[in-house]
Amino acid sequence: MMAKPLEQMQHNPPISGVWPDATGHFGTYGGRFVSETLMPALEELEIAWRHYLSDARFIERLDQDLATFVGRPSPIYWAENLTRAAGGAKILFKREDLNHTGAHKINNTVGQALLAQAMGKRRVIAETGAGQHGVASATVAARLGMECIVYMGSDDIERQSPNVYRMKLMGAEVVSVDTGSRTLKDALNEAMRDWVTHVDNTFYILGTAAGPHPYPAMVRDFNAVVGREARRQMLEHYGALPDALVACVGGGSNALGLFHPFIEDDSVDMIGVEAAGRGLSGDEHSATLCAGRVGVLHGSRTYLLDDDAGQIRDTYSVSAGLDYPGVGPEHAWLKDSGRARYVGVDDRKAMEAFHMVSRTEGIIPALETAHGLAYGIELAATMSPDQTVLINLSGRGDKDINTVAKLEGISL
Ligand SMILES: *Cc1c(COP(=O)(O)O)cnc(C)c1O
Repeated sequence: MMAKPLEQMQHNPPISGVWPDATGHFGTYGGRFVSETLMPALEELEIAWRHYLSDARFIERLDQDLATFVGRPSPIYWAENLTRAAGGAKILFKREDLNHTGAHKINNTVGQALLAQAMGKRRVIAETGAGQHGVASATVAARLGMECIVYMGSDDIERQSPNVYRMKLMGAEVVSVDTGSRTLKDALNEAMRDWVTHVDNTFYILGTAAGPHPYPAMVRDFNAVVGREARRQMLEHYGALPDALVACVGGGSNALGLFHPFIEDDSVDMIGVEAAGRGLSGDEHSATLCAGRVGVLHGSRTYLLDDDAGQIRDTYSVSAGLDYPGVGPEHAWLKDSGRARYVGVDDRKAMEAFHMVSRTEGIIPALETAHGLAYGIELAATMSPDQTVLINLSGRGDKDINTVAKLEGISL
């Protein structure tokens, strides 16, 4: 067990805990490995983040938007049929799929966009892979009347045309990125490049709890509303904290959002589920914490997936949102400290859970979420009926039905 990591965050405002330290490190992870030209922008952002997250008026505005635009609080739902099928602990879902735009990502984009507004920035930029973060960014930019530019790999643009159209409907400009593997990591590099040249009027809305300090801590803080609500709801409705928390991990924002307010509750197990794709033994996965090694990616010291020459590897998962070769530095630290553990779930098991939850509960989960569900169901079966497993239902699966149908040879 690690030393006392942070202040308990049972309250609003969502002030940041003691971690990361003043230099943006979680133990030896995190930090700020960027070019000199980006340092002033990150320092300005850090000051604003620290200032506004303890500013009562900012928090009031944030809470109001989370309530009336996003639809918070999201309920905790007892998956009774699934519980019976698993035959062990009570399985509960935190219903982030019910948020506006259908996933947890909006918690972060609402927060960052309000921060951009408070800082007087009129132009926001974002990177996106499958398009979910791009859509969540375009959504809040439209709401606040900001110019929005989304960087997206050209391969992803082709694969995700409905999301590209959604962004355009809301007035965003989608910029095609043709470098590297023409996917998420290249889009992220391009967004950073834009930021360097337009620092004065531009705010970079990063989509997960990764990147240089203060992004990992800031994205965590904006998503921690999930865990704060869950903690309160568990005590109110079930009279006890859950025995285990389960969440899927891509960059790590939905998992940290749920885990963070429970970190000091030693009785609560925390398990992050990565995408094992076609198996952890080969190269076709994106299980960074399970199978990666420590290095520097996108401005942060963390676990990553690279080849023998130190080049970032192409990763794979059936779920586009988990398909990232890095992971947020706080997860690296939680893993090494033993406070959380990380497992891999492959495509096949995720697909099984996708179908099982759709059929037994009438909830079609996102393919990302299905990874967490697969492990959560397995875990519940090993526990006793008086225990509870709380799974973060990070998003709804409507966006994935074409992928699933295609894999099963069905044409829609
Ligand atoms: C993007 C996404 C994820 C993965 O991102 P994290 O930052 O790891 O949470 C998980 N679930 C859904 C539904 C997503 O859209």
